[in-house]
Amino acid sequence: MSERQPLVAANWKMNGSLESMKPLVNAIKAGLDKAKAEVAICAPYVYLPQLKQELDGSAIHTGAQNVSEHEAGAYTGEISTSMLSDIGCHYVIVGHSERRNLYAESDVLVAEKFARVQSANMLPILCLGEQLDEREAGTTETVVARQLDAVISKVGIAAFAQAVIAYEPVWAIGTGKTATKEQAQEVHAFIRQRLAQQDSTIAASIRLLYGGSVKADNASDLFSMTDVDGGLIGGASLIAEDFLAICQATR
Ligand code: PEP
Repeated sequence: MSERQPLVAANWKMNGSLESMKPLVNAIKAGLDKAKAEVAICAPYVYLPQLKQELDGSAIHTGAQNVSEHEAGAYTGEISTSMLSDIGCHYVIVGHSERRNLYAESDVLVAEKFARVQSANMLPILCLGEQLDEREAGTTETVVARQLDAVISKVGIAAFAQAVIAYEPVWAIGTGKTATKEQAQEVHAFIRQRLAQQDSTIAASIRLLYGGSVKADNASDLFSMTDVDGGLIGGASLIAEDFLAICQATR
């Protein structure tokens, strides 16, 4: 039996409004009584203070979806880790495939963001994952290893004691095409084993989330796998009933 507490993190992406957030958060809070998982909501920056307020008194954590790699200064439009930390943010997603692919974030930049998040005492949720053509070419492990190694070489293996990893095959994000539980398990085991080559304790304790079209009807299958410790949930996290069902589907 694993000692890892499952984590289900919502990624609202660029969705919602001040008005729509309240009923969604209230419904999630009210329905979470029975969930064994830790739960987090990663909201757009501007809604984080309000979200934090709405979550007051609940065990649900707040998270951001991105952050600047710089501490402060002339970076118009950017948000720093100290600003996120100021408002009580707990998690920060780094290296989401939409950031890597739409905003050309490199492995090195993602590693810098990871380090910056930790230096502000927040927990990075590091996203890794291959594109469809990379899977078809049989290079999934090469891609995931490259993305992971870039962070390990920047921060060192010990830093992973205070981090979460999300395996998100890019072809499964927002497409309705979920990885099979066997495909997810295979990559999760690969990631854990790669970490174990450097530190078996950290490898055994880090939570590895799966993300990519997790829905209420496939979550328990995916979460039943040994190395799948929860999920990073996009679309389904915008519907309270679906998100709650996913939270309740963890081991
Ligand atoms: C995501 O945004 O990280 C994600 C996994 O999205 P979806 O659940 O919609 O595929």
